[in-house]
Amino acid sequence: MTSPGDCAIVIIEMRERRKMRNAKVLQRKSMTHLVEQVAPGLFAVKSGETGNCYGVSRKNGGFRCSCPWGERHSLSGCSHTVAALRLLAAQEGRAVSVWASEGDARRQHRPIVALGDGLFVTHRGR
Ligand SMILES: [Zn+2]
Repeated sequence: MTSPGDCAIVIIEMRERRKMRNAKVLQRKSMTHLVEQVAPGLFAVKSGETGNCYGVSRKNGGFRCSCPWGERHSLSGCSHTVAALRLLAAQEGRAVSVWASEGDARRQHRPIVALGDGLFVTHRGR
């Protein structure tokens, strides 16, 4: 190594690994929430972890969420939006998977929803 700049690739790899792990954590966490569709495109989500309730609404092909993370992101890739998508998918007998990159999602050859925050959801089943 000749300069700290040579470490950049390490940082990128670390971020990619963290994103992938987060995607799977998010997927697992979303399964602990209770979700109810209260109107077309509008969902009430109760956190399985804290019991807090959040509103999730459809927006520009993705979702907004009223949780602290969602407040800071116009399209929210949080476990609550994944839970809402899971409910929609279940109505069609499908399950969802969360991916940390569009490339990973495309390799599934399934319908894709861009959640925002660099996360993508694919539908599988049926
Ligand atoms: Zn949320």
